[in-house]
Amino acid sequence: MKKTWYQLNTKTVLNELNSDSGRGLSADEVTIRLKQYGYNELEEKPRDTLWKKFLSQFKDFLVFILLAASVISLAVGEVADSLVIIAIVLLNALLGVYQESKAEKALDALKKMSAPTSKVIRDGEVNTVFSRDLVPGDIILLEAGDYIPADVRMLDSYNLKVQEASLTGESVPVEKKCAEIDGETSLADRHNLGFMSTVVTYGRGKAIVVGTAMNTEIGKIAEMLQTVEEDRTPLQKKLEEFGKGLGVACLAVCAIIFVLGLWEGYHDGVLTFGEVQLMLMTSISLAVAAIPEGLPTVVTIVLALGMQRMAKKNSIMKKLHAVETLGSISVICSDKTGTLTQNQMTVVQIYTPVKHFAVTGEGYNPAGGFTHNEQPVELAAEPELALLLTGSVLCNDARLKSSEDAKNWSIIGDPTEGALIVAGCKGGYTDQQLKAHFPRIEELPFDSDRKMMTTLHAFNGQLRTFTKGAPDILLSRCGSIVTGDSARPLTDQDKAAIQAANREMAARALRVLAVAYRDYSSKPDMTNAADIENNLVFVGLLGMIDPPRLEAKAAVELCKGAGIRPVMITGDHPDTAYAIAKELGIVTNTKEVLTGKDFDSLSPAALKQAVETASVFARVSPEHKVAIVETLRSNRHIVAMTGDGVNDAPALKKADIGVAMGITGTDVTKETADMVVSDDNFATIVSAVEEGRVIYTNIKKFVYFLLSCNASEVLVIFFAILFGWPIPLLPIQLLWVNLVTDAFPALALGVEKKEPNVMRLKPRNPAEPLLGKNLKIMIGVQSAAIAVTVLGAFQYALTTYNRDLDIARTFAFVTLITTQIICAYAARSEHYSSFTLGFFSNKFLNAGVLLSFALLLLSVYGPLHLVFKTIEPGVQEWIFLLAMAPLPFLTTEITKWLLKLTGKPAQSAGVNG
Ligand code: ATP
Repeated sequence: MKKTWYQLNTKTVLNELNSDSGRGLSADEVTIRLKQYGYNELEEKPRDTLWKKFLSQFKDFLVFILLAASVISLAVGEVADSLVIIAIVLLNALLGVYQESKAEKALDALKKMSAPTSKVIRDGEVNTVFSRDLVPGDIILLEAGDYIPADVRMLDSYNLKVQEASLTGESVPVEKKCAEIDGETSLADRHNLGFMSTVVTYGRGKAIVVGTAMNTEIGKIAEMLQTVEEDRTPLQKKLEEFGKGLGVACLAVCAIIFVLGLWEGYHDGVLTFGEVQLMLMTSISLAVAAIPEGLPTVVTIVLALGMQRMAKKNSIMKKLHAVETLGSISVICSDKTGTLTQNQMTVVQIYTPVKHFAVTGEGYNPAGGFTHNEQPVELAAEPELALLLTGSVLCNDARLKSSEDAKNWSIIGDPTEGALIVAGCKGGYTDQQLKAHFPRIEELPFDSDRKMMTTLHAFNGQLRTFTKGAPDILLSRCGSIVTGDSARPLTDQDKAAIQAANREMAARALRVLAVAYRDYSSKPDMTNAADIENNLVFVGLLGMIDPPRLEAKAAVELCKGAGIRPVMITGDHPDTAYAIAKELGIVTNTKEVLTGKDFDSLSPAALKQAVETASVFARVSPEHKVAIVETLRSNRHIVAMTGDGVNDAPALKKADIGVAMGITGTDVTKETADMVVSDDNFATIVSAVEEGRVIYTNIKKFVYFLLSCNASEVLVIFFAILFGWPIPLLPIQLLWVNLVTDAFPALALGVEKKEPNVMRLKPRNPAEPLLGKNLKIMIGVQSAAIAVTVLGAFQYALTTYNRDLDIARTFAFVTLITTQIICAYAARSEHYSSFTLGFFSNKFLNAGVLLSFALLLLSVYGPLHLVFKTIEPGVQEWIFLLAMAPLPFLTTEITKWLLKLTGKPAQSAGVNG
């Protein structure tokens, strides 16, 4: 029987797949194999067809009410009304399908933007490619935090551990090795294979792709993976509930109106069959008019549009509900390196037990040198400096890369390590030369809990480990100190001098790394980090600058103005963290700095207090991040937390909004996060919060507008019946108003620009209702004002035009539409009057209002007037009608002004009052 991949040795696997461990495949070969094997993607569940999507729109309770209304209309012979209702239902369903497809497309686009990538060796170069482009035979590099992108056979493994629970059920990560396995073993025991979609939790490795797409273990068991999860936001759920409640209330009101109407007619002794029919139809139309059937659809459209706008500004929202939560964020916990700073490290200062050195040169360009007291130094005369540079280049995984003209230099790998490579080059030590001379035998990779990294090398005929890491931690592991070419015991005095040098560099906002070594005569057991990283010989310190991001300072200020506390969380030294946080305006006092150690010593109660005052958490590990989020949340904060490393995932999950870094973030954090910031920038998170606030307020605006329009119609009919008047609006007129004229201004309100005070309000309390007290008052006043104006116009026409009902109804119809569309301007802000905002600043609203007005003209002047039973108003009529139109708008604006005058100042973004 043919052996399978895990039973073959690495050489045979490479031969079988015609690949080379060092050079990988050639670009041409990849093209051929892509054609042969296809993309490395699992098959997705087929999407619903358009037809299915369309049918699913009819599952809604409100739609049932509408359909019932249409059937009753048909039964009483009102064919036109019945058709109009059907038209509404169909239009609504089409809109639903459109928005669903649009949301799907938007999600697809977002998915592409955050598609997983892999590091692959092709034509001898390391490149990052989309994982879907991998083919069998590709050589890939793996490190902690990566998802394994295909089924692979290990070629090299440096303590590589993989979490395979999703596939094998094994709860602890398994260590991967390279040797072949004899005989048959179960999936969980194939320790030289890596499986698609499992996660590297520790270490580093190299592997060859042996199976892609559906030809993988996961592909075999999960043929229908990656279904799109339905994600309804709390607001959507709230609105759906609200819509249902409103639907029932409308039905009840309509039933009352129907009974009341019948009673009036009966009382007057003129109840004819025609009148009963009219009353029935009026009640039905009113129900149709009052039910906010389009509300959930418009909310989804506005949320989806908001997501697209955010994606353009580098924030990819992975979950719809996050858009809403953004507006409530009260604390943003941000990493320092790369998010608040540029992650462009340059070594500028060096300390050895004998001397301080300054390093010249800029950025990653290796041109530069070393000075002592401003005099250039020769490396040959400084053995400690030479050893420090050697150690920091050897204990290092970064590579320096230059453009063809050697003008632009960049780093592949960790910028901290890159800076050390550059410093080495300035002393004439390139990593290729050193690594050839002192080959690496084994290693203990860096992790942010240990804050150290160690490599074992063959070193001048013996064995030597080099360890680099956080000075305070590394120093506690040192027993000796370098002197010339040998070592002597470390004294308390030495320690004090090193600590002073470390503090002095940190206070200048430098990130400091220490380097140490240890010699061995035989190969040590590298699995025990605590033993290996002990009894070290201290060599020196390297201080590097990482300038703050230029835009971060303004973003911090914006946050503070918006009632949001920016908090810096870093693995770095407290002094370095404080210096940078102070420069950015996050803190003003050292009391606001808390270290991981302080954190561990506090009781839960003291912790709850401490997180309220501390804005910098330094020397923390990923577990502290979880505790910080939990404590802040227990203090009722709504927390956004950033993360990049594999260990950050639990903290991101715990946060209200987990934010992953697009550039430095590992696959695991991106997968866990609610939001990915593609430029790793703190300012981007703040602008997403602003956008979230705008979206929420806009949703409130059109909910307010639509509700007050619907309520005004109910009031008109209700009071007409109560007063014993003829019914002012025909069913078909009511339907037209709701179907057509309300919709466009409402949609335009959903894309309103931000109000000037959006980042000056406090965060919204998520427990607050969508409509606060002020908005409720405004809805009441506005709908009453519209109803009074419409009834006034109706009564005026009745008396002026000889009780001609068609003319009077035309007056009511025109007044209803004109008052409503003008009121859309008042709905643009809860805080600002239209006179302050300017009438023409939302061009979509202007277009929507013009369109609605044109449709109104069409219904009174065109052939449609026969359907609507309207008469053509003349100039005199228009003068009256247009004079009435702004009255409700003015009433609302005056109410807004009075509320502002009497009420408290605005409290929160989105909801106040
Ligand atoms: P953040 O990104 O959260 O602001 P950070 O990048 O400073 O924090 P870590 O990456 O956890 O945090 O690093 C913590 C400390 O570990 C650093 O201050 C540094 O002293 C040390 N360190 C960082 N990178 C390495 C590395 N590659 N090798 C050895 N030590 C390192």
